[in-house]
Amino acid sequence: MFEGVFSGGVVKKALDREVVRIVVHDLRNFTTDKHRQVDDRPFGGLEGMVLKPEPVFRAVEAVRQDGGSKVYLLSPQGRTLDAGLARELAAEQQVVLICGRYEGVDERVAEHLADGEISIGDYVLSGGELAAAVVVDAVARFVPGVVGNEGSVRNDSFSGGILDYPQYTRPREFRGLKVPAVLFSGDHKKIERWRRKKALEKTARRRPDLVGADTLSPEDRDLLEEIPNERNNE
Ligand code: SAM
Repeated sequence: MFEGVFSGGVVKKALDREVVRIVVHDLRNFTTDKHRQVDDRPFGGLEGMVLKPEPVFRAVEAVRQDGGSKVYLLSPQGRTLDAGLARELAAEQQVVLICGRYEGVDERVAEHLADGEISIGDYVLSGGELAAAVVVDAVARFVPGVVGNEGSVRNDSFSGGILDYPQYTRPREFRGLKVPAVLFSGDHKKIERWRRKKALEKTARRRPDLVGADTLSPEDRDLLEEIPNERNNE
């Protein structure tokens, strides 16, 4: 499942340049019985299977480095991944991600092994692998040297607290749809101001929860105030 995801794009380049290292471990290698069993029926009845604690504890204890390691269980019940959490994890020396399957993972893993639980959203996936891949990609982008142009990460949605500004490329006009003229003005200050204003406008419209009092500068507030006037003049 991981080979495809990490065999292209920014993460692949980072792996090739050894800026990050990703190691996938098979829980079955940490079992001791001849069937290499990683799951068992839940106590208390009902259907489904639960990942057993022993192979998970053994695996994490074998791979975690002394000091500088954080262990997270992927779980729909965890803290929702956002840019803040991705940035926090990017500063760690090593992050161990435990992927659940079936009905989930024996609760002792969350309570006594993991430093926390991470969710990628309020829905349930069949396994933690896709969630782990999402976490790895989002975290890797904050590791210095992974994304060639660090300015682009700084401007990405949520990085600076708001959504990204609109992007355009050639052609200047497509089916009568024109790229805003300001982008050809050559006036970098003007372009920067326009982009900031558009980013603020989009954020205010789509994600009003992100334009709280503490996220905006006084200049941002001035820009936001200009927007309704422009609409009235359109
Ligand atoms: N019974 C569990 C519950 O309702 O909380 C869901 C188990 S789910 C079918 C199997 C595994 O997929 C979980 O143990 C977890 O590792 C992973 N998973 C499912 N949804 C996830 C999400 N939104 N974020 C992160 N991991 C998730």
